[in-house]
Amino acid sequence: RCDFRAVLRKNWLLMSTILAVVLGIVTGILAREFAVLSNLDKFYFGFPGEILMRMLKLIILPLIVSSMITGVATLDSDVSGKVGVRAVIYYFSTTIIAVILGIVLVMTIKPGVSQKAEEIDRSGSTPEVTTVDALLDLLRNAFPENLVQASFQQYKSKRLGIEPVNNASIPTSPMVNVVMTTQVNETKSSDYKVIGAYSDGINVLGLIVFCLVFGIVIGQMGEKGKILLDFFDALNEATMKIVQIIMWYMPIGILFLIAAKVMGVDDWEIFRRLGLYMATVLTGLAIHGGIILPMIYFIVVQKNPFIFVGGMAEALLTSVMISSSSATLPVTFRCAEDKNKVDKRITRFVLPVGATINMDGTALYEAVAAIFIAQLNDYPLDAGQIVTISITATAASIGAAGVPQAGMVTMVIVLTAVGLPANDITLIMAVDWLLDRFRTMVNVLGDSFGAGIVEKLSSKELQQMDLTSGIDIVNPF
Ligand code: ASP
Repeated sequence: RCDFRAVLRKNWLLMSTILAVVLGIVTGILAREFAVLSNLDKFYFGFPGEILMRMLKLIILPLIVSSMITGVATLDSDVSGKVGVRAVIYYFSTTIIAVILGIVLVMTIKPGVSQKAEEIDRSGSTPEVTTVDALLDLLRNAFPENLVQASFQQYKSKRLGIEPVNNASIPTSPMVNVVMTTQVNETKSSDYKVIGAYSDGINVLGLIVFCLVFGIVIGQMGEKGKILLDFFDALNEATMKIVQIIMWYMPIGILFLIAAKVMGVDDWEIFRRLGLYMATVLTGLAIHGGIILPMIYFIVVQKNPFIFVGGMAEALLTSVMISSSSATLPVTFRCAEDKNKVDKRITRFVLPVGATINMDGTALYEAVAAIFIAQLNDYPLDAGQIVTISITATAASIGAAGVPQAGMVTMVIVLTAVGLPANDITLIMAVDWLLDRFRTMVNVLGDSFGAGIVEKLSSKELQQMDLTSGIDIVNPF
């Protein structure tokens, strides 16, 4: 019983996105073949796309702040019951598993690495900073010393030879932290100084950590915290409305971004890589939804997971059609309760909360996409950055609303966090409408299995409740 008009509207967006991709490619090819364009022309041609990118970047800050704070604060009052805690443990652990799976796959398949780049990599260039430095940076960024600064700068250590340190003008403001490390080697030039300074880019990690803590605190403050919660809730709603507006502009932006990209392509190899990228995401989704989640279900519930999947078939199909876990929710409820006979007291908490915060497919996709873009740019990622990607991909999946292509908007968060060029999202946009459908399916499947698993884990409480009846385990108010 989905709202028919909502389905239509979502499909209208989808149609225009596909049309934009096709038109963009055709325009790009035509301009390439029949017009004499200078690089400057191409640059100007991409202008409507540039505006789209600016809007996407603009929305990150209010999006992170409002969605993290309200997410955690409302969770806190809902989660008081044991069922809530179990559900949240399930959400987080499966999301982290999905992210790790994505990272392992993309680093093994290496869809964005060209043969040449791989050879260069093996020749062994020294990393800018050591793993220890990178991990320390991660922690420094997690604890920003200034919130306002965190919304436009992040901390980054640099490794410099001793010589240039003395000659070049290194900023020596009081906030610059200077640490000396010496690497014993034959040549003198390998004596390094590690200096830390702030560089441009939102400190996404710091904001996430702060908002998490802030949200938890607000959630526990009861009546007094309500004012703040209402404020951030309203901010979140307003931000989501703006995201919606950006989504309407998206097809236009995509058209020009893709056209400008196609005009500038001098190496068609990029399309091979894009195909490989899609294959990587789809393989990851298939492994997570077809093997890992069923296995967890089997271990906990001791029932055939594929019969459970069969029961959810209608919801899974709907999610592929409309790429929105929120809009699929009514069907998910019906399948879980009527076909799979999951207790209503469980589904009414696990499913709706899951539809907004538990997105395994989105998290996996975000991690793969970020590392793919890094590979395309020959951008070496250190251990700290990989950890940052895992954390921000998880946060970005929590922050993404269950609407079509929300994951692509929050993708900018992950890219910004590790300093990758957000503009490279263009390539990913071209195929996102397709990947969105399958990751949404995995999101819905994850919520459904979650309901089955949490029901099994809570069977004792449910039985007790049947006997004593009266105490509501989910909503203790
Ligand atoms: N479309 C997805 C969902 O509704 C979110 C995303 O874009 O990843 O679950």
